[in-house]
Amino acid sequence: MPPKLDPTTAHLSSVYGPVHSWRVGSSLGIDLLLQTSICSFNCIYCQLGDIQNKTIARQIYVTTDQVERDLRLSAWEEADIITLSGSGEPTLAENLGEVIHLIKEYTHKPVMVLTNGTTLENADVRRDLMDADLVAIKLDAASEKTLQMMNRPVAGVTLAGIILGATEFRREYKQKPNRKLSLQCMFMPANLSEVSELATLINQIQPDEVQLNTPKRPYPLQWVLDSRGNHNAVEYPAVNLKTLTPQQAETLESALAAAIQCPIVSIYNKSHAEK
Ligand code: SF4
Repeated sequence: MPPKLDPTTAHLSSVYGPVHSWRVGSSLGIDLLLQTSICSFNCIYCQLGDIQNKTIARQIYVTTDQVERDLRLSAWEEADIITLSGSGEPTLAENLGEVIHLIKEYTHKPVMVLTNGTTLENADVRRDLMDADLVAIKLDAASEKTLQMMNRPVAGVTLAGIILGATEFRREYKQKPNRKLSLQCMFMPANLSEVSELATLINQIQPDEVQLNTPKRPYPLQWVLDSRGNHNAVEYPAVNLKTLTPQQAETLESALAAAIQCPIVSIYNKSHAEK
């Protein structure tokens, strides 16, 4: 049977990289959205720029057949890990679970999913994620106000719902062997005052690790497909973002390390892995 391909995306590849990630090494990206940028958030620092399709509806954007075709044509052997991320929120792809299964069967490499956590209240999404070896949930805000300001979610998404979904996912995911749950916290001057409230939420969710980050790239003024990968060499119109000073980063990391019960890995190269 010939593979089922969507004519609107068949000329593009759903696989990109491998690119280097400071968290996991050489990572091959899989983009299950591909048509444009699609997300339930519209973060003020998003490397994709202003999200083109702001939605929380799940559907199939790229067929599993197309991912299989693109994977076969890619340099997947060179990657340490296969990451589902790309042009937005990967859990909005209804074939996420099917694709994770395909990748593991074809490559035998660990699979990571980066999610903004907005769909974790949905039991179907949590089930889809169970076979991923690593899941990283974004958590930048410790208040509804900061969520609205930094992550700008679609209507109906609340911090309370995200925490509820993440806590339930943690409980279920823990029952599977050799799984790792991370929380990714992006810090900017805008959320620096919420460190202790964020620590309370982190301790409630009980991840295996917290990853501290700050925007490394300028905010693109428009969406370009290349912005899903390592676009250091890509030229596009962009504005610079406010990041933390080294002193602010050090203070933040020390305060968080003292208040939470799991290790921290940090883009600022400080590790609290002894905790
Ligand atoms: S969740 Fe990720 S893809 Fe979505 S807007 Fe935020 S940074 Fe961009």
